Amino acid sequence: MDFSMTDNQIMIRDSVRAFAEKELLPKFQHWDRSGEWLTPDYMQKIIDMGLLRLRLPEKFGGQGYSFVDCGIVCEEIGRADHQIRYIISNAIHLGEMAHAMHPELQEEWIPRIANGEMMSLAFTEPRGGADAGNITTKAVRDGDQWVLNGEKTSITFTGVSKVVFVSARTGGPGPRGLSFFLVPTDTPGVKMVNFDRMGQRIDRGGSFFFDNVRIPARNMIGKENEGFIWAMTIIGYNRNFVPLACIGAAQKSLEETTEYLKQRQIMGKSATQWQGVSQELAICATQLEAARMLCYKALSLKDKGMRHDAESSMAKWWGVKVANETLYTCMRLNGHYGWAKDLPHEQRLRDCLGMESADGPREIHLGIIARDIVGKQFAPF
Ligand SMILES: Cc1cc2nc3c(=O)[nH]c(=O)nc-3n(C[C@H](O)[C@H](O)[C@H](O)COP(=O)(O)OP(=O)(O)OC[C@H]3O[C@@H](n4cnc5c(N)ncnc54)[C@H](O)[C@@H]3O)c2cc1C
Repeated sequence: MDFSMTDNQIMIRDSVRAFAEKELLPKFQHWDRSGEWLTPDYMQKIIDMGLLRLRLPEKFGGQGYSFVDCGIVCEEIGRADHQIRYIISNAIHLGEMAHAMHPELQEEWIPRIANGEMMSLAFTEPRGGADAGNITTKAVRDGDQWVLNGEKTSITFTGVSKVVFVSARTGGPGPRGLSFFLVPTDTPGVKMVNFDRMGQRIDRGGSFFFDNVRIPARNMIGKENEGFIWAMTIIGYNRNFVPLACIGAAQKSLEETTEYLKQRQIMGKSATQWQGVSQELAICATQLEAARMLCYKALSLKDKGMRHDAESSMAKWWGVKVANETLYTCMRLNGHYGWAKDLPHEQRLRDCLGMESADGPREIHLGIIARDIVGKQFAPF
């Protein structure tokens, strides 16, 4: 058991934190308020920092980051602008899928995503996302093409992504009848519609409609009817990136709130000298640290090629929960200022609240953990 960071990980943490504080933090409220898409010069900074190449194959400039290293990046980005984490983790997912992509698709799409074009991952459907193996979007083989029909919803980067990776039914019912496809968003028959969400506003959630969309057979990722395995591989480790970005955001608010409270005078002394206040800070710090450890433990199991499903589910539901509780506490301890939009806490809370659903609601994670405890035969699913 070793809880320390390597020298290289300390370097990653410090350099990403310095970058994010200088380049991302000053703009994160602007993107939320304006509704603008990130400008090319802004995106170029993210590209130049290497954040879109963390786990790409070496020949595409990949940097060979471990999953723990990637978690450190997600946490640090979350401290500055939680919304940007999706761009970075999608590029990590591309690195995982690359090995199962046709070489021509690799050559075309990996450099485009690494150079700042957006991609979407589409699993969720209008009839429900928690049951990800039970989808109705269909792909039917027609000669050397697949024809896709269906709808995906709540998909990040709808409207701005150039390519979407879609799960679709190619076989019988349940998770074993699914395949995974790469669909350029300018393919005839693809339509995207955005909806208005309370947070994560850069990430532009919305629906994808597929109306007789024809794609070449080589656009299948991996093997036929093994799409769910792909989805779960990505979702499995991502369940740690999601809470780590929230923990980063909450940690930043906790530090800012602590500084504020040290200066704030209440009945003749610093607010932190009131035990009711300082104990709230201590509870938040304890919970964030415990949640952080769960995430890094699960990621280190992933790095070692070990099972990490129950650990990742613990990290996901509880990490997001305690991050949101911390953000709420910070808003409250800032008094009426905390409620003001000038301060960053309300945006961080809006951004992170959505993460309760994203990558599965807590009931799904509690079910996965329960299955680990009681065994499959006695588990809810
Ligand atoms: C910010 C954000 C970004 C997202 N980005 C993407 C994306 O890029 N791609 C993508 O595919 N999806 C995305 N999603 C969708 C997300 O994955 C789904 O919201 C999630 O899978 C849950 O599906 P659902 O919202 O349809 O809820 P449902 O499946 O309708 O569930 C509704 C509620 O029922 C309860 N519930 C569900 N199942 C069970 C159960 N077995 N036992 C007990 N209670 C249960 C839970 O409380 C759950 O919240 C995103 C969501 C958000 C909020």
